[in-house]
Amino acid sequence: QPQLAGDFGTLMVWADKGRRMKVRTNAETPADCAVAREFGAEGIGLCRTEHMFFDPARITAVRQMILSENEKGRRAALERLLPEQRSDFIEIFRIMAGLPVTIRLLDPPLHEFLPHREEDYQEVAQASGVSIDVLKRRVSELHEFNPMLGHRGCRLGITYPEIYEMQARAIIEAALTVAGETGEAVVPEIMIPLVMTTREFELMKAVVDKAAEAVFAAGGKRLDYLVGTMIELPRAALMAGEIAQQAEFFSFGTNDLTQTTLGISRDDAGKFLSTYVDKGVLPKDPFVSIDIDGVGQLVSMAAERGRAARDGLKLGICGEHGGDPASIHFCEKVGLDYVSCSPYRVPIARLAAAQAALRASK
Ligand code: PEP
Ligand code: MG
Repeated sequence: QPQLAGDFGTLMVWADKGRRMKVRTNAETPADCAVAREFGAEGIGLCRTEHMFFDPARITAVRQMILSENEKGRRAALERLLPEQRSDFIEIFRIMAGLPVTIRLLDPPLHEFLPHREEDYQEVAQASGVSIDVLKRRVSELHEFNPMLGHRGCRLGITYPEIYEMQARAIIEAALTVAGETGEAVVPEIMIPLVMTTREFELMKAVVDKAAEAVFAAGGKRLDYLVGTMIELPRAALMAGEIAQQAEFFSFGTNDLTQTTLGISRDDAGKFLSTYVDKGVLPKDPFVSIDIDGVGQLVSMAAERGRAARDGLKLGICGEHGGDPASIHFCEKVGLDYVSCSPYRVPIARLAAAQAALRASK
């Protein structure tokens, strides 16, 4: 494993000796993956795929996919996106060779993909052959008053399964390519976002499995992969025992879990939370440190129920809290297997995980 240099590097080596939890990273660009590896990340806990879709070279195809009124139109756009997604994942698997990689299927607030400028509409109209008037009507149909509680996460996969099918295919094909190059096993962990019911997970897992089987049949080679879920809605935490009968791992998305448990928008919280902390309404900013009495209880309950339903269920956290030392201590107490944080927080998380393990052993 690459080490940080000097005294700090030595400290990190000591810390790693005392650590129980693994430290992974939240990264989706090759540059971030490489930095995280250098800082000692032991895998990717969250590869968000939304930003890949915002790439200027792809956005027209993405808009075509979203705005198509039929599956045929969506599939035409997805065919164009598939090779690009495959190479995104090939690059990531290469950089992270030998380490686990969790890739989360698309979870955008939909409105971020919609065209706004006249020239955006022109580009989509040209690519899709659909008139600008029809595209505008479709955009108004898709408008949401509260996109963060709207048609995002697996809800998108339920309505447009072909998007998740394309992504699953790209992941499996990329994993087979890199496994072929290195001769080492690549075991992708495919993660379904914003799951609320077991049925959602079941439907999405079926899409992933079908796509994987099609790739195996076409290429004559197989590999192992896992399908797991984010736990980022209170309902999912409550239903964790049932969901764990289907899901092979859980990753706690504490950004959304905090937003939905407290009913405070993660995007607007800054406006009044400091007053709340000053006046003792909340002990700390709950979007930074796990709110032990609220989100914390849900995490520990879901971990318990999940593990009771599935022996050895792998548990991690990938919300921003995964890089917060106080929250990392909490994760140790709950017995999570890993924390995942942004690349530059990896050394802090290694240290905090070691301190937490030491404290727990006393
Ligand atoms: C989360 O909700 O905690 C999470 C990691 O997902 P995102 O921040 O991408 O919504
Ligand atoms: Mg989330």
